[in-house]
Amino acid sequence: MNEYDVLIVGGGIAGASLGAQVAAKRRTAIIEAESQCGYHATGRSAAFWLESYGGPDVAKLSAASRGFLARPPQDFSKTGFLRGRGDLHITRDQLPELPPGIEARVIERDALERMVPGIRPEWRRALFEPGCADIDVAGLHSAYLRRFRQMGGTVSTNAQLAGASFANGGWSVRLSDGSTHSAAVIVNAAGAWADPVAEACGVRPLGIEPRRRTMVQLRVGRSGLRDLPLVDDADGTFYFKGEGDRTVWLSPHDEIESDPCDAAPEEIDVATAIDRFEQVVDWPIEAVERRWAGLRTFAPDRLPVYGYDPTAPSFFWCAGQGGFGIQTAPAASALAGALLLGTAPGQGLAKIDAGLFSPARFGD
Ligand SMILES: Cc1cc2nc3c(=O)[nH]c(=O)nc-3n(C[C@H](O)[C@H](O)[C@H](O)COP(=O)(O)OP(=O)(O)OC[C@H]3O[C@@H](n4cnc5c(N)ncnc54)[C@H](O)[C@@H]3O)c2cc1C
Repeated sequence: MNEYDVLIVGGGIAGASLGAQVAAKRRTAIIEAESQCGYHATGRSAAFWLESYGGPDVAKLSAASRGFLARPPQDFSKTGFLRGRGDLHITRDQLPELPPGIEARVIERDALERMVPGIRPEWRRALFEPGCADIDVAGLHSAYLRRFRQMGGTVSTNAQLAGASFANGGWSVRLSDGSTHSAAVIVNAAGAWADPVAEACGVRPLGIEPRRRTMVQLRVGRSGLRDLPLVDDADGTFYFKGEGDRTVWLSPHDEIESDPCDAAPEEIDVATAIDRFEQVVDWPIEAVERRWAGLRTFAPDRLPVYGYDPTAPSFFWCAGQGGFGIQTAPAASALAGALLLGTAPGQGLAKIDAGLFSPARFGD
């Protein structure tokens, strides 16, 4: 008999949230290569929920996740994970088009100046998306891991899958420390390493690629910024949001090709971010307090991948969460959990076509 029914590779938000969906019904283990879960993309996000982000199909997953994030079941968390902020899509010219059904209103220059004092004159107006909120990412991730363990799941850190082979109804999994485990199903929730993990299991890769994104925390000569809306431009060249009273989190919205790695920011990307920021507001920059980078990982069509591999039926994909893996985690894990267990997706997922996310869409 296999030691586990399900072995999840990767302890980020994808592995933790899916694990929490299945651990009560299957003997499930998470193996995480690093010494702590959440060390890679999950621990480096900009931590916001923005419904329009990622296009109409991702927006459905985000919308279906909102209720859980705002008001989780009491036995999952006593407090919600969202804090309202709103998002201003500012423009010098044309307002952006959002996917249908998303609440938004036009903000003209006078109101824009009140919302972002010191905004430069060329930014003529904005589309305001009031539903945008901050997510308590660490709280959400640890609540999923807690639920997973409560349901009988086990988490091993410093446990890196090195290879696996399938025979006689089960996987024999080799870790890089030489130990072995057996499992009926492998779940690939390895983030930027999704394709290399597939290859290590003898499964064809899907062309899932990491892209580096840079974040900078700036201290500026302006106060009262904590509740500043998220501000981005319609062309997608930067975003920033208030963090502390005089600090902002800023990104140049970069998407730089990278191998899977422990991503670090490059000076040129930090400089680009600052240059773009200075073209938006007249706030003097006093210090770069922090800088970091993480990998956002995309399938070729930029939709996530949930489902059993058509050529390796005991290999389940939970990958390609791009820049939306946190804000979609509740609905995505419920959908992926139903696909993994072969059960009907819950009511809130009725409008979501799981076929859009199937690995079978990439052909043989
Ligand atoms: C700068 C930045 C800003 C972002 N902002 C947002 C945002 O505002 N909102 C949002 O929703 N999303 C955002 N994202 C995206 C979000 O962070 C990701 O979609 C999400 O964290 C992906 O989760 P994951 O579990 O798939 O990946 P990860 O968190 O990277 O987890 C994958 C894990 O797999 C492990 N692993 C890899 N190979 C192996 C192996 N062989 N054996 C064992 N373990 C292995 C890794 O160590 C890693 O811990 C942002 C991302 C970045 C980088």
